[in-house]
Amino acid sequence: MIDTAVHQGRRHKLIRELATKGIDNHSVLSAMVRVPRHFFFPKDFEQYAYRDAAFPIGFDQTISQPFTVAYQSQLIDIQKGEKVLEIGTGSGYQAAVLLEMGVELYTIEYIKPLLQKASALLKKYKGNVHLIHGDGSKGVPKYAPFDAIIVTAGAPTIQNELLKQLKIGGKLVIPIGEAKDNQRMHRLTRISENKFHREVLGDFKFVPLVGDGGWK
Ligand code: SAM
Repeated sequence: MIDTAVHQGRRHKLIRELATKGIDNHSVLSAMVRVPRHFFFPKDFEQYAYRDAAFPIGFDQTISQPFTVAYQSQLIDIQKGEKVLEIGTGSGYQAAVLLEMGVELYTIEYIKPLLQKASALLKKYKGNVHLIHGDGSKGVPKYAPFDAIIVTAGAPTIQNELLKQLKIGGKLVIPIGEAKDNQRMHRLTRISENKFHREVLGDFKFVPLVGDGGWK
């Protein structure tokens, strides 16, 4: 796969568009300038990669909209070297952005062929990535605690298990909705052992989180 000057030009334009939509975290924007989103697209559809829109990746799943990737990456408010869990690897694009931001990344995906494809793409990134196949709806307690947990599928509720896997000061960013296809972004910050600060943010449309702690 090649990253041509045309791809790079379109990418810079998209990133400028994200900045006008309110993304102002330099580390997020510069990581997104460096990650060729068309690498994570189905073959033959790369001409759609630099629109600010989600796109189907097979198995009824989608690569998230660039604004959503930027927004969630900004909300977790992480520093280089911190430990992040992503639930829903999908295409691997969000994972690549987080790796470019310098985090130690654990990412879990339910659909094995998607994880395998993402794994091949993520090998090119120098960061430390741990790819896990399985149901991440209740996190991955084996590797906890995390500085941040980012959920990239829509959940019906917030599972206590996820909250327990945060370090003190850590953040959970998760879309929650009563309906399967409509959510409101939530950010929960762990203030102390038993105290969490909850923020309810904008409206989003994610594919549903499945599994034990998701939509059955
Ligand atoms: N972050 C992805 C990207 O950058 O392409 C977008 C992911 S897509 C919107 C949501 C993903 O979550 C899908 O690939 C889906 O299979 C996965 N998923 C849904 N429920 C899951 C669960 N319980 N555990 C792990 N992955 C799950």
